[in-house]
Amino acid sequence: MSSARSGITASGHILMCEKEYLWLTSTSPADTLAIARALGAALRPGDVVALYGDLGAGKTLFCKGVGEALGISPDRILSPTFTIVTEHAGTVPLTHIDVYRLAGAREADEIGMREILSGDGVCLVEWAEKIEELLPTDCIQVKFSFLGDDRREIAIAAPDLPGFDEFRARSIRFQRGG
Ligand code: ADP
Ligand code: MG
Repeated sequence: MSSARSGITASGHILMCEKEYLWLTSTSPADTLAIARALGAALRPGDVVALYGDLGAGKTLFCKGVGEALGISPDRILSPTFTIVTEHAGTVPLTHIDVYRLAGAREADEIGMREILSGDGVCLVEWAEKIEELLPTDCIQVKFSFLGDDRREIAIAAPDLPGFDEFRARSIRFQRGG
């Protein structure tokens, strides 16, 4: 796990704020769903979850797991070709956003992304790297990397999430050495 540090060094260089990540290994789609359900249980209205990673990494699958934790059937959460924002009614309203087809933050801003992200429900954002400057600084980050075949590394940072310790405990079997 990386340490969190930020500030200005003696030589005047600004250290970028490094978030503290929880590193998980998923070995199957079922693992990724289980991790997502556990995180979903810790989310609160207003939370924004930024999902990073390439095509096929598992972002949409993760959204299905979060949706399940909020009482939404996984087959309602899709990756439609042209829909950018989809609202779902769950125990908490869920806004599923996929900005893959947008050029970038400016275009997202033009369609009202700031307002959408500041809504009362939970927001999930696929391809978050494309709209980084519009995301709240305290957003929850979920970063996917391919480890080969069905294995994925999932790094999660949730600086201000009160339920994060409980999530950490519930995901122990996916942690290194867990
Ligand atoms: P994205 O939204 O990131 O483009 P999807 O969630 O739509 O990705 O697709 C992920 C694909 O990878 C699915 O077909 C899923 O079955 C497959 N897959 C294989 N192993 C995993 C894993 N460990 N976690 C997530 N998806 C996996
Ligand atoms: Mg997707």
